[in-house]
Amino acid sequence: MNQENKKLRKDIKNMINIKTPQEKLRIAEKVFNNTGEGIVVTDVEGIIQLVNPAFTTITGYGVEEVIGKNPRILRSERHDKSFYEEMWKSLIEKGQWKGHIWNRRKNGETYLEWMNISAVKDENGENIQYVSVFHDLTENVLKEEHIKYQAYHDALTQLPNRELAKDRLNLALAHANKNNEMFSVICLDLDRFKRINDTLGHAAGDMLLQAVARRLRKCMDEGDTVARLGGDEFIIIIEEIKNMKNVIKAVRKIFHAFEEPFLLKDDEIYVTASMGISIYPDDGETTENLMKNAEVAMYRVKEKGKNNYQLYRKEMNEKAYDQLAMENDLYKALENNEFVLYYQPQVKTTTGEIIGAEALIRWNHPKLGLVSPAKFIPLAEETGFIVPLGEWVLRKACEQNKLWQKKGLKNIQVSVNLSTLQFKQKDLIEKIIKIIQETGIRPEDLELEITETNAMLNPNFTIKTLKILNDMGIQIAIDDFGTGYSSLAYFKSFPIHKIKIDQSFIRDINKDESTKAIVLAIIGIADSLGVKSIAEGVETKEQLVCLKKYGCDEIQGYFFSRPVNALEFEKMLI
Ligand code: C2E
Ligand code: MG
Ligand code: MG
Repeated sequence: MNQENKKLRKDIKNMINIKTPQEKLRIAEKVFNNTGEGIVVTDVEGIIQLVNPAFTTITGYGVEEVIGKNPRILRSERHDKSFYEEMWKSLIEKGQWKGHIWNRRKNGETYLEWMNISAVKDENGENIQYVSVFHDLTENVLKEEHIKYQAYHDALTQLPNRELAKDRLNLALAHANKNNEMFSVICLDLDRFKRINDTLGHAAGDMLLQAVARRLRKCMDEGDTVARLGGDEFIIIIEEIKNMKNVIKAVRKIFHAFEEPFLLKDDEIYVTASMGISIYPDDGETTENLMKNAEVAMYRVKEKGKNNYQLYRKEMNEKAYDQLAMENDLYKALENNEFVLYYQPQVKTTTGEIIGAEALIRWNHPKLGLVSPAKFIPLAEETGFIVPLGEWVLRKACEQNKLWQKKGLKNIQVSVNLSTLQFKQKDLIEKIIKIIQETGIRPEDLELEITETNAMLNPNFTIKTLKILNDMGIQIAIDDFGTGYSSLAYFKSFPIHKIKIDQSFIRDINKDESTKAIVLAIIGIADSLGVKSIAEGVETKEQLVCLKKYGCDEIQGYFFSRPVNALEFEKMLI
């Protein structure tokens, strides 16, 4: 190309030096028409005197449109002033400039060209004209970009591939680090994909992956990364998250995307997905760890029955042995009667009268002593042990309340926590009916607590289940309210009786105005739904005074009493 360029330039120089215009035009035409290079001749001021057909082909400008004009009309916005200043400096001082330059075609498109400009000098060595020869590099650039695109994208779905996902993770990490922010990594794997592939064929499998990719892309925000790692495994990166609500909201959107069946040729199939989530910086400080931990959490979901999500927890990576040992202990603990229920009074704010008790489980471990539920409920939840354990709690609490009633003590409501897994059990209602019948408790004297997060996981299912419980006369409380992500549209159709304001708000109620406003808003929501409000974790007089002022109906917390065993609780009822 360079050889060619040199020869061409020489030809043109010769041509321009020819004196008669006729001769000049004749040779000019010959050279100009036989080259694919664009050629522009300007005077020393840079005014265009001559252009060739290739110039028109490349730039889109006709000859008449540019003669007498400055080549500035071709300028793109891609170079700054100094770029052109240097070009002129080189032309004036050295009589030559060459390099890559971005210009703009008549249709507005920018393009890259390789340009070589040289000065034509008179006998005194003064520049009198400039000749630019250039060729369009767009195709090369496109080819290069295409190759780059292919290296970073998955051919089947066109989503970013593992390489690009890693790049994006690195960027997210640097960004989060700099701005002290969090971001989350969601590892998503389709459930039973292999079976679909095997029964419907690979073509159908491919179609499904493409459809899944489209749905995922559509349900996430533009700034989020959705990538395919290979097989039926996808990764989603959500940046600049403020709190878990943002992540849970995204996860719900993803679940929603799988609600409609996928149409593969003639088959309509329903597909579900399992997701594991890790959060930077809590769940890993490197991209590898974040990816690995999201995957570990995802496998947990698979183990537990698929079609769900799971946040990563540190215990997941501890030795399988520890896990097994603890798990084993848990099962034995039930047989050995190592679990006990403690009761914490719930009182009326206005009168201080005890009206209920929350049953809170404790593990009386032979070696460790009283173990808090925070330590073993997550494990019980993970292993499914929570189902028999929860049933035990429910039965025990109902029996206890019945016993107090038989003793002629003040009639109160006993409140029992239902875990996520318990709430999802198909035979939950039957089990509750059975326990109520066998213990002889009135349904009105039993309250079930489900957390806000749990209730919002599958709102339609929640409405259905709560309706049945409500029809039976059982009381429903929404636990830890304010910590989850609630859609009030759904919330208002939940048949509930009580909202429990999470203790994190009560703790800070006298510390800042915004917390105060939140508590007031939650009490307002309860009022407008016609349900009771109860504050959890009330520890001080000041908190009580404030809650009283705000019209919160009930109070629970250390200020009145810590959770105590049944015998001690009984004394408070007398
Ligand atoms: P939760 O249902 O929100 O229960 C309230 C927790 O707050 C209890 O912790 C209680 O002891 C504690 N608490 C009460 N008043 C105060 C206070 O004034 N200050 C402070 N700092 N804490 C207070 P606990 O007993 O450790 O239970 C923790 C969580 O474990 C419970 O939160 C509940 O989610 C779960 N849990 C407890 N028992 C059961 C059960 O039988 N079944 C299920 N599924 N979960 C249970
Ligand atoms: Mg509770
Ligand atoms: Mg709570």
